Amino acid sequence: MNASKLWNVARWTAGRVWDACGQIPDDGVLKAYLKTHERYADLNAQSSQRVLEELAEAFTGWFGHRNNGNEKANPPGYRKHNGEHPRSTVTFKEDGFKHDAKNGYIRLSKGRNTKAHYSDFILCTYEADPYVLIENVQQVRAVYEHGEWRLHIVCRHDIEVESPGNEVAGVDLGICNVATVSFGDIALLYPGGVHKEDEYYFAKKRAETDDSASREARRLDRKRTDRRTHFYHALSKDIVTECVDRKVGTLAVGDLAGIREDGDGGSKNWGKHGNLDLHGWVFDRLWKMLEYKGEAAGIDVVRKDERGTSKSCSACGRTDDRQRVERGLYVCDECGLVANADTNGAENIRQKAQVPPSPAAPQPDRSNGWMASRKSQIFDDSSKTLRVFETASGPPVRS
Ligand SMILES: [Zn+2]
Repeated sequence: MNASKLWNVARWTAGRVWDACGQIPDDGVLKAYLKTHERYADLNAQSSQRVLEELAEAFTGWFGHRNNGNEKANPPGYRKHNGEHPRSTVTFKEDGFKHDAKNGYIRLSKGRNTKAHYSDFILCTYEADPYVLIENVQQVRAVYEHGEWRLHIVCRHDIEVESPGNEVAGVDLGICNVATVSFGDIALLYPGGVHKEDEYYFAKKRAETDDSASREARRLDRKRTDRRTHFYHALSKDIVTECVDRKVGTLAVGDLAGIREDGDGGSKNWGKHGNLDLHGWVFDRLWKMLEYKGEAAGIDVVRKDERGTSKSCSACGRTDDRQRVERGLYVCDECGLVANADTNGAENIRQKAQVPPSPAAPQPDRSNGWMASRKSQIFDDSSKTLRVFETASGPPVRS
């Protein structure tokens, strides 16, 4: 109930900030603002922080639905029913609990306001199934389920995964090509065209329904979300599989943060295309999928600042404003490279993550068809999988 009360105070505060300046405060702002609030001290400090993070996440989720075109999505509400505060889940982190593995105890810390004396705590005993190993406890959640409080214990188990190899790959996330992966000698392009047609189809069907709150409209929203999720899962899975096959140990993903801030134009003009484009939250989702799928395969997935990668030449390294991008082609006046602009960007991201080769090491020869084979991934409607086909093209054209 203390967690619900703090949630409500934070929700009210967020609403006031929204009214005053048109922005929803993030959890950092809420924490700074409410740190000294009476309700904050009803729980262990880290548990209180977690409540505020949950509220910020709920707002982010709501924005995501809005960006998805779901106008009916409701912002997070207050936690109160018939004058009663529901029993919200309380999360205990690091200093919020103590685990006594030998005796099977977990001690949960109370908030300053609820302690009877300095070392007051809630003592819980647990009995886990014999085959469940309770160790390296990261987090304990007290959840009220089926009329009783239960503990969810989150343990960390390290699994040894061997890295597929020492190769480095770079990923550029974009609009025309949802993803472009460069392995140095070959690049894979994942066009987003069919996925986009899919989105348009649902947007159109949605517009045709008379009542936007109807069962049919909700069904369409759900189906669209499912298909989108499926698309990104299939995409990230395919990228990781390709990386494993090519002995990639490090996968560098171009981080859009810089571009979103400084409004770098060109082929990645975020604002103009409406809500079918790759927004920040889609990037975050894809990034998370790549990160955990990569990690499970032993690949180190890292972010690399994408600034400058669309402008510089991946073959000769020249960077200036005279470099051209024309109809999706990157043209270098210095060395004559003509390459797919996304492939050039992905290769630059890859090079950023590469350990600089020793001067004696031979430079890879990019003049000879380093993007000779293009692979297209198509969202196949009938099988609900990504259909893969390869087309071979000649070596890069030089003017
Ligand atoms: Zn060049």
